[in-house]
Parts: sequence; structure tokens; C-alpha cells
Amino acid sequence: MTAVLELIGPWVAFTLGAVTGSFANVCIYRIPRRESIIAPPSHCPHCASPVRWHDNIPVFSYILLRGRCRDCAGSISPRYLVVELLAASLFLGFWWLNGGAVLVFVLDVVFVTALLIGVAIDLEHRLLPDKITVPLLVFGLVASLLPGGLSPLESLIGAGAGGGVMYGIAVVGDAVYKRDTMGGGDIKLAAAVGAFVGWKILLVALFIAFVLGAVGGLIYLAMGGKDKTIPFGPFLAAGAVLALVFGQDLLSWYTGFLR
Ligand SMILES: [Zn+2]
Repeated sequence: MTAVLELIGPWVAFTLGAVTGSFANVCIYRIPRRESIIAPPSHCPHCASPVRWHDNIPVFSYILLRGRCRDCAGSISPRYLVVELLAASLFLGFWWLNGGAVLVFVLDVVFVTALLIGVAIDLEHRLLPDKITVPLLVFGLVASLLPGGLSPLESLIGAGAGGGVMYGIAVVGDAVYKRDTMGGGDIKLAAAVGAFVGWKILLVALFIAFVLGAVGGLIYLAMGGKDKTIPFGPFLAAGAVLALVFGQDLLSWYTGFLR
């Protein structure tokens, strides 16, 4: 059994990731437009023709059709391909990271898929919908009830710390800049991340997120960006994924360094 799992596991993880990425694309398009994510079946955003099953194969169909609708030749956003490939790679990465521990793998990929959907919506619409952040917070808290991982207390403290830190930054930022600096979605997302990874890894995630955010902001300004606000959700999500992968090692290195 273990040998079989080792052999087919990475392939199954990659395929499952691509299929999940395809579903994530449906959510990314429909959730901000307040459409059902179940019905109707996928259709072209230009001509509304239903997508045939053989044109709906993750990754392959986009490449074979060169990013165009078969019916009207309207161009389909490269976001579809990027999200599918990213989800497939994340699934594969977390399969390797967890060494075949199926339950931890499932929890991790549900978490990163929700982050992926949230980030893509945030980049396009500048908002992190409650439909993503609130269920993710509940998911993180419930996952801590399962044996072997975080304790429910660590999860609760993580949620409180995530929400609290971001709320504090929002209050200070609003007072200093006299305008909204941090959205409510960022506060809820940080709480959800804290609930899933616990307060220790959360601190690593926030640290990475702020470093990435500062670097990203500088690059944006250097490139002549004019927007006063840059969505923070993508940096927070990137920090969360990196902390999930490297957080434990970083923490041990840091505490060893202090000694
Ligand atoms: Zn079309």
C-alpha cells in the first residue's frame, strides 16, 4: 500500500490540483459576481456558449485552444492557466512536504486553495470576500479539533493574534494616513491564517508578508504605480504558504540563534 501510494501519490496530487484549480477559477469568476458556483455549467464569458467537456480539461485545453473560445475565438484570461498550474504545483509540493500523510495533505491543500481563490479575487476586485475568509476561519478552528496537529487553544490564540495584529495596524494606519489603509478582509484573512497555522507560525507568516509587501510596494512605486493602496491579501497569503512550508525550520533556527 505504502509503495503504491509513493508511486502514484505525486501524480494523483498534481492531477487533483489541476482539477481543483479549474474549480477555483469558477469560484474566482463567480463569487464576486454573486453567481452560483454550482450551476449553470462553465460557459464562455464572451458568447456564453457552454464549454464542452473535452475543452474543459485543466491545463491542456487552455494550451490546445491557445487561450481562445472554440465558438467565438474570444480570448480567455491567462489567469485560468496560471491558477490551474499553480494549484497543481501547490498540491504536488504539499504532497512531498507531508511525506504521504493524507489527512494533513488534504487539510493543507484545502487551506491553500481557499487562499488562491481569495488572492485572485483580491487582485482583480480589490476585495477579499467574506465567503472565503469566514469559512476559512471556521475551517482552521475545526481542523484543530483533529488529533495530531495544533491544539484548539493554539488555533484560537492564532485567530485572535492574526485578527488583533491586523486590526491594530488598521487603526494606527487609518489615524496616520487619514484614510482606509487595511481592509476588513485582510483582518479576517489574518485571523483565518492564525487559526489554521497557530500563533507561532502566524508570526512568521506576518513577518514574511510585511517584508514581501514592503518590497512589492517599492517595486510598484519604482515602476511608476499610481494607486495609493496595494492589496495586502496576496502578500499575506504568500507569507502564510511560505510559513506553512518553512515556518518550523525558521523558528528553530531563530530560537537556536538566540541561545
Ligand atoms: Zn465564446
